[in-house]
Amino acid sequence: MSDKPKSHGRLSISASLKPRELITHNPRLAKVWSARIITLFPDAFPGVLGESLTGKALKDGKWQIETTNLRDFGLTKHRNVDDTPAGGGAGMVLRPDVLGPAIEHTMRGARGNWPLVYLSPRGRRFDQKMARAWSQADGITMLCGRFEGVDQRVLDHYNIQEVSLGDFVLTGGEIAAQAMIDATVRLLPSVLGNADSIEDESHSNGLLEHPQYTKPAEWNGRKIPDVLMSGHHANIEKWRHEMAEDITRTRRPDMWAAYEADEDR
Ligand code: SAH
Repeated sequence: MSDKPKSHGRLSISASLKPRELITHNPRLAKVWSARIITLFPDAFPGVLGESLTGKALKDGKWQIETTNLRDFGLTKHRNVDDTPAGGGAGMVLRPDVLGPAIEHTMRGARGNWPLVYLSPRGRRFDQKMARAWSQADGITMLCGRFEGVDQRVLDHYNIQEVSLGDFVLTGGEIAAQAMIDATVRLLPSVLGNADSIEDESHSNGLLEHPQYTKPAEWNGRKIPDVLMSGHHANIEKWRHEMAEDITRTRRPDMWAAYEADEDR
């Protein structure tokens, strides 16, 4: 339990919007790609998404984020959201009669192509292809689990797609949601200024990226490869492509096999 005193309202007022205020003060923008997040920890958003490129785009209204506080749908005066697992065992499970109304509230007004996903270590592994598909959708709703997860009937009833950040177990879905939103938002045409930089990136063309260098020309006795200093663009391109192939072949045999098999490229 936290020993923080109970909130007595706002203690300070700032002139400019803080990242967190970007969520509450931006009216719903029609036609803008939106992430709607169902979570017990709405204060965790926008989190790191409020910084840098994604943060600026959020401020500029190029995408938006809305949170649904699962606690608001809690039952009884204690606002309970979870209960013990049927059949026994450790931990707690999020109740379907709490999740259902929260999902329906959050999906209201969702238009067009709008995936509904549950962040889950059992899900399909998130990848660049999924990020690209989501960036072409109108928006997305993400359900963040906590404790032992959610009642299976909710997933079945709403036909929710389970998506995993990787083969490890997090405490909750919030960090996974932020990672996936970050990867998706930077692919929105209006967000990443330099579209060229997307094309060469790791995972965009089936290869990992070539090494990058910048000034100074020599550092701790290590020089930038001569070809990059030559100004010969064709040679530079060739070198980068060969490096991308080498790195992919040695680090990711699985990607390399898929790359070699892809005759359409
Ligand atoms: N008992 C569950 C794990 C629960 S972890 C199991 O063994 O499958 C608590 C919550 O964290 C989950 O409900 C999920 O929303 C989130 N989570 C954990 N690991 C994750 C991962 N790899 N990817 C996405 N979300 C994850």
